[in-house]
Amino acid sequence: MKKRALLINPWIYDFAAYDFWSKPMGLLTIGGELKRQGIEVHLIDCLDRHDPYFQKRFKVKEKKFGTGKYYFEPVSKPTYFQHLPLRYKRYGLPEAEFARRLKAFPRPDAVLITSGMTYWYPGVFEAIALVKERLPGVPIILGGIFATLCPDFARRNSGADLVLTGRPREGFWKALSRVLDRHLEAGGETPVLFDLYPRITYLTIFTSFGCPFQCPYCGAHLLQPRFQEREPDGVMDDIIRAVKHYRIRDVAFFDDALLVGGGDRFEQILDGIINNYLDLNLHSPNGIHPRFVTEGLARKMKRAGFKTIRMGLETWDEELQSKLGGKVTGDEVERAVAYLKHAGFQGAEIGVYVMGGLPEFSVEEIRKTVKLVHGLGVQVRLAQLSPVPGTPVFDRLKESFPFIEEDPLTHNNTTFIYNVIPREEWQGIKGWVKELNAEVG
Ligand code: SF4
Repeated sequence: MKKRALLINPWIYDFAAYDFWSKPMGLLTIGGELKRQGIEVHLIDCLDRHDPYFQKRFKVKEKKFGTGKYYFEPVSKPTYFQHLPLRYKRYGLPEAEFARRLKAFPRPDAVLITSGMTYWYPGVFEAIALVKERLPGVPIILGGIFATLCPDFARRNSGADLVLTGRPREGFWKALSRVLDRHLEAGGETPVLFDLYPRITYLTIFTSFGCPFQCPYCGAHLLQPRFQEREPDGVMDDIIRAVKHYRIRDVAFFDDALLVGGGDRFEQILDGIINNYLDLNLHSPNGIHPRFVTEGLARKMKRAGFKTIRMGLETWDEELQSKLGGKVTGDEVERAVAYLKHAGFQGAEIGVYVMGGLPEFSVEEIRKTVKLVHGLGVQVRLAQLSPVPGTPVFDRLKESFPFIEEDPLTHNNTTFIYNVIPREEWQGIKGWVKELNAEVG
């Protein structure tokens, strides 16, 4: 008899969330593998803005480049956040619709739930509780970022039957084979299972996995220990398929290290887009390394259709930067911006991340970095630190903030910064940056 798996991308519980080309790529890749191996696959993606449930009831507004707001419902704030004058929300499908849908599909033989940011776990736990109630006896397997970074907490509290960590490797497929009572194994490059969506308005894609740098606050190497590049041809096949199938125009590269690699992977992909006359808007929301932007690459990015370029800087201060692993300097950002502008990019298309939330980043230092970045005529993108378990920064922070070990809710980037910078001061910086960005055309 054909085996069935139900994939679930649960809700986000947070103060703010926005669909910047977000798709549960790990889950959809597993879905592709399962389908290839003869398993019937269904999906409930609580965060699909184009879900027919929303289409029938609301006018789903599209924002720039296929991005958009999620539907949300206010939920009660956990004790830890009670003192903050902020609304806590559950983003995504209403709970009753989720519960109804669990019964709408044929009964699955396994439920696979993914997880995102560590502090979003209430959505994961809620989904698991509802699956247990509606589909008693069906094994629940939890994976994803939260499960990988907080495996003990997830095993103790989630209610899942199995918590699997890291990217799906041999052990993952063995465990899944046992649950489904079918021999399963990892294949090669299986297409991500986008067919499970009724509508796709953008393509989320990786050309590589992981990052060879090891910035002490970043969890990239914990999620993907080895930097792995995809074949440019495989990436191009995915892009062309999405253009033909879904008529998408927006492609968001979600690599941690898009410009890094032994060969010229990224340039070959840009050449493919140019030579196939694909009329696309390209985006790099995770930030590219300014050090690797050359004059020629900037020109190619412009010709291929880049519209959103983000670069990581964090701080202009050289001493602080070298303590963070020295991945970049202010001078390198300045040079990259000059190349990009010379290639024809507008300042509004380029954003540089400036970080707050580390105790050693004082308000004065952040303001200084903001001023210098703004002086380049580009957008300043404030990034608020979320402590990532397993990183050197987390180990250091837990000395002063022991609560981050107790409950992942406390890793929330909106709130963690207030342990380091008074709320009024941080709000002041945010308001000031908004004004500065409005001046950049
Ligand atoms: S360069 Fe970026 S992705 Fe790589 S380790 Fe540093 S912060 Fe993480």
